Amino acid sequence: MSELLYGSTRGTGGKVTASQAILKGLADDGGLFVPEEIPALPMSMRELASLSYQETALAVMRQFLTDFTEEELRACIDGAYDDKFDTAEIAPLREADGAYYLELFHGPTIAFKDMALSILPHLMVTAANKNQIKNEIVILTATSGDTGKAALAGFADVPGTKIIVFYPKDGVSPIQKKQMVTQRGANTFVVGIHGNFDDAQSSVKAMFGDGRLKAELDAHGCQFSSANSINIGRLVPQVVYYVYAYGRLLGRGAIADGEEINVTVPTGNFGNILAAYYAKLMGVPIGKLVCASNENRVLFDFFRTGAYDRNREFILTSSPSMDILISSNLERLVYRIAGNDADRDAAFMRSLSETGRYELTAAMREGLADFAGGFASERETAAEIRAVYERTGYVLDTHTAVASFVGRKYRETTKDDRKMVIASTASPYKFTRSVMEAIGGQYDGMEDFALADKLAELSGVPVPAAVEEIRTAEVLHRTVCEISEMETVVKSFLGV
Ligand SMILES: *Cc1c(COP(=O)(O)O)cnc(C)c1O
Repeated sequence: MSELLYGSTRGTGGKVTASQAILKGLADDGGLFVPEEIPALPMSMRELASLSYQETALAVMRQFLTDFTEEELRACIDGAYDDKFDTAEIAPLREADGAYYLELFHGPTIAFKDMALSILPHLMVTAANKNQIKNEIVILTATSGDTGKAALAGFADVPGTKIIVFYPKDGVSPIQKKQMVTQRGANTFVVGIHGNFDDAQSSVKAMFGDGRLKAELDAHGCQFSSANSINIGRLVPQVVYYVYAYGRLLGRGAIADGEEINVTVPTGNFGNILAAYYAKLMGVPIGKLVCASNENRVLFDFFRTGAYDRNREFILTSSPSMDILISSNLERLVYRIAGNDADRDAAFMRSLSETGRYELTAAMREGLADFAGGFASERETAAEIRAVYERTGYVLDTHTAVASFVGRKYRETTKDDRKMVIASTASPYKFTRSVMEAIGGQYDGMEDFALADKLAELSGVPVPAAVEEIRTAEVLHRTVCEISEMETVVKSFLGV
């Protein structure tokens, strides 16, 4: 197989190997790494349909990560998709209410970020060995909730790595906080800050860009890396479950070979839906990619008008992991529809950072034809949870409900009746309060774990181990600091 190299969306400069792109995360010019071309599926969908999740992962990831040997990839996959997931299927497809819900929440933190963050540490350590990096890899992350815990779970006790997570002390849900502060693993550090997510994120970015700090760390045998969703080591593993989902539908006779399906994805940073697009480009028969937003509908407006405009109010919703106004991974799509023209992409991104806005040309807008956009208000999201529950007994989380509503509306308004797969990105147990209130009832004064028990009665789905474990788990991380102290805290953890 010839080697697939990666270049930056903003530069015409040097290309790097897949392992180098994973280690670097972001290109030096601030652009995102993209493969020179999207590889094709290595075998027919009929053949892929007979493979397990792990075998599908190997077949797909080999096409992208060509400087990893088959043995290396196998070891990464086996280390990631094991009994940390509560089902051997890893990503089961559940038919309910006229759609297929692709459940991506069976991993250790019951949200879809586990699909990528359980394998990223293995890819990163393998990549470090391959590139003769002797330093310890230090993952530095700011989180608004979900990413932090999924990264902690992925990197805990992985030899050759440490992970430091900063979260806004008063800005995450009680269950999210408990998930993080009870994290085991001698290489994990969790710190609350007096500040909001943006404060945490800005300080983390400043540390990444600080040459003096880099040199100090290097002298102590460590270097920073990022588990951020723009890393191709997170994107590539996400392509797998769209291939797998199509295979399952084919395998159970729900579709004919070659029949196109549609996919609706609840979207924030545009990583998950971009992976679905890459699956389509590889040859999976996917028709429309429906991009579902909550009330932060910047992407809906983008698909409707061709203008990306972040100059708007930031709205806190019941689907917080989609409360995003700068959708980082969209840059990879913009680059592609600009004809892989790095100069044009760089000009758009400059305009975004200077004015908060850019507008596609008419020709570029034609490149968006594979996509449709939609959004759900808070009221529509809650009504969707209730309606699906009442009709079928199946309970959706708030993020999945946004997609479910948007997918349904898409079908009704377009009469496009191709089978619909809905990416189901979190367990309802992660957002128990919003889900229970949507179904109906007042739960003021009831604490979150008691609410989880109520949800179990109502849905017949047992409380997941991920929630049971933290109910009584010991708090292991008590550090809290000011924003100005973050660098000092990092250095003291690392003994620098
Ligand atoms: C992160 C997240 C999303 C958004 O995914 P993107 O890849 O950022 O578009 C949706 N739902 C849940 C539950 C998430 O954690």
